[in-house]
Amino acid sequence: MTSWEPGNYYGLSADFDPDWFLTEEQKQLREELIEVCRTILRPNAIETDKNNTYPRENIEALAKLRLLAAVAPKEYGCRGENHVGLLMISETIARYGCPSTALIYMMHSVAVAALAYRAKGNKEIESLLRRIDPECLIGSASYTDPETGGHFWYPKMSGAERVEDGWHVHKKAAWTTSSGYADWYVSQTTSPDFDGDYGNLSVFLFYKDEVKGSAGKWDAMGMHANQSGPVEIDTTIPLDRIVGWPGDGAMSNDEIVDPLAMIYFAGAYNGVGLASIDLAKRHVTRKAHAQYGRRVADYPTIQDTFGRVIMDGQSSRLYAYALAQALDAATDNNNWDIYYKDPKATPRSSKFTTWCFEAKFLATRFAFEAPDKMLQACGGRGYMRDLELERILRDAKAGWIMGPSNEITAQLVGKWGLFGNEAIDWWNQKVDEPVLMNELGKLDEEGKQRIIDKLTSELAPKKEAAE
Ligand SMILES: Cc1cc2nc3c(=O)[nH]c(=O)nc-3n(C[C@H](O)[C@H](O)[C@H](O)COP(=O)(O)OP(=O)(O)OC[C@H]3O[C@@H](n4cnc5c(N)ncnc54)[C@H](O)[C@@H]3O)c2cc1C
Repeated sequence: MTSWEPGNYYGLSADFDPDWFLTEEQKQLREELIEVCRTILRPNAIETDKNNTYPRENIEALAKLRLLAAVAPKEYGCRGENHVGLLMISETIARYGCPSTALIYMMHSVAVAALAYRAKGNKEIESLLRRIDPECLIGSASYTDPETGGHFWYPKMSGAERVEDGWHVHKKAAWTTSSGYADWYVSQTTSPDFDGDYGNLSVFLFYKDEVKGSAGKWDAMGMHANQSGPVEIDTTIPLDRIVGWPGDGAMSNDEIVDPLAMIYFAGAYNGVGLASIDLAKRHVTRKAHAQYGRRVADYPTIQDTFGRVIMDGQSSRLYAYALAQALDAATDNNNWDIYYKDPKATPRSSKFTTWCFEAKFLATRFAFEAPDKMLQACGGRGYMRDLELERILRDAKAGWIMGPSNEITAQLVGKWGLFGNEAIDWWNQKVDEPVLMNELGKLDEEGKQRIIDKLTSELAPKKEAAE
């Protein structure tokens, strides 16, 4: 592979990196990470894509840099990295290293953040956070439910009961990155006192022997190494394996899982889009057409294509970094003590929910579209495996469809913009009366009577119980 020593690097130059967001320490970390990407992650990305294998060596390399628990507090021996730093790390892994590893890192880090949120005083969680980097313990966030698709906050086929020795939890997850390979999982179910309100959620920690994963079954268009797959849980776990308390799940989602997942999404998919530009630049600046004595890059149409794609990427990156900086300002640089002092604090969700979802949309759209344009710019060579653009293009398509899909995200942002956040019906609980009355209006008398009878028979047992 091409050496990235000074002078040999072929991608978009540092002129395009918004380095003013980074501290000197973060720039140094990026240098170290790029070197690890060059020597370990990237060669493995090529191999694991071909062989559909799990990139354990890449994860070990990240653990050696103390990046696996980077989001968690310093008091547990972790980096306590801020949002800008986390964004930079995921962008760098995806851009210079391996998109699948960036995805594994993202789902793992979201789970680490969910643990860090409620770590204080929970010896089991505190101990795990301390061991993640030294013992290279990879985790995953297992949320998506087979029956509710990309609405990952809506677990229908799950539940938990308080039993003598702790919690009995049953859960089916449709997709989980690192399924069967992770050392631990954070998963969400309806709460032990569930009474039909799907917003009443709880979060639990499981170790690998308590989870039935699906190692080696991932067979997909791209992101071959991420090994996503179904997960099944039906087990009893000790009391201290609840993360937070019964009913804490919605708050965990709003305050931690969603904002941080969207920041990691933004970093990873901005990185994937940039990788496609870097690879295409290498090709178009080297390939010449003898009949004109010009390189492909010399055609004004190619320059126009690159200009547009670069600007799309830069808008998404600048958006994400500005948002990360705002989150840093609101959380005293990702200071977890805020929640340890006041568990109900909402520095992220009180202001930034829609901003975070928008970051996911922008980055995954950029990643979805940029490789197509870069493929066109590279012509037939771009279609060949050895240019690597083909792999990046396949990997890039995952972001748009990952939950919340970009259709759901756009609808969410649009509805919020039009009617305010109270109009968002996360758990399908609000009745749309105008639509209901309109539909009822279509019924004849017999049809209306049928509905009245049905509702009356539904209400009868409740009335009897009340009397
Ligand atoms: C590579 C990869 C890794 C993943 N890793 C994880 C993981 O680690 N953990 C995890 O929990 N999940 C994970 N997922 C799952 C992911 O987040 C989504 O839940 C999943 O991709 C949704 O797929 P689905 O087939 O159920 O789509 P569906 O939700 O059925 O969507 C199908 C289509 O319907 C559209 N749609 C759905 N609802 C609406 C609506 N209300 N309005 C308009 N359009 C709508 C969607 O946009 C889409 O176009 C992963 C997915 C992928 C691809």
